[in-house]
Amino acid sequence: MSQFNVSKEAWVGTATLGVVLAAGYYIGKRRSTFSSMDIFKSHSGAKDNPLMQYVLNHSMREHPALKKLRLKTLEDPWNFIMVACEEAQLMANLAKLIQAKKAIEIGVYTGYNALSLALALPEDGRVVACDVNENYTNTGKPFWKEAGVEHKIDLRIQPALKTLDDLLAAGEAETFDFVFIDADKQNYDNYYEKSLQLVRKGGIIAIDNVLWSGKVVNPAEGDLDTQSIDKLNKKLHRDVRVNLSMLTVGDGLTLAFKL
Ligand code: CA
Repeated sequence: MSQFNVSKEAWVGTATLGVVLAAGYYIGKRRSTFSSMDIFKSHSGAKDNPLMQYVLNHSMREHPALKKLRLKTLEDPWNFIMVACEEAQLMANLAKLIQAKKAIEIGVYTGYNALSLALALPEDGRVVACDVNENYTNTGKPFWKEAGVEHKIDLRIQPALKTLDDLLAAGEAETFDFVFIDADKQNYDNYYEKSLQLVRKGGIIAIDNVLWSGKVVNPAEGDLDTQSIDKLNKKLHRDVRVNLSMLTVGDGLTLAFKL
């Protein structure tokens, strides 16, 4: 079979992963027309970065349903807002490390990370998945089912702040182990404050897009989203309620560990 006449899905879906990745890389080097055949969708620029591609090739252990959902999501014009796969895997590993049972995801999109977290949780675990757009979350549902973790994902279609308030009102303060914040940036601080109430001591709040494509370096020149992110970054730096790491994975991921 020629390398050049198979679909992206055929390459990724049927061949041995390592072979596919190597082939994708070399084809990408040889044929610029195949630059869109990026095996791992990543905000880390793996497509044009052989070292990043190496990192992904040698570390990603993507569940088959996750892979299918990632490829399905790539068909959507808004696919650039999907979480970076290596970032999702890091968060799943962190959730396992702290033996998380209860998680919240603020901003689901097509549900790649909700699925990744659900796979990391025990059988009686739960991901409260918050979004306002059912069209997108419906994309992910068949893959949640295929992976056998649909029952762990508690999807709430309404403004996330309302869902967080509902959880607090239901007496679930300090019972969650892990929160991922990845929704509208101007509400980031509100999401963070409510998440801090909902997470237990030792729990983790992960915040996405904290570098905002580098725009945070010059916040005065940025829009309201940029300024909201920069403001929260500065606040977190001096927030004594958490320990902190800011990682350059994806578009920047802050990990706040509740003290
Ligand atoms: Ca994001």
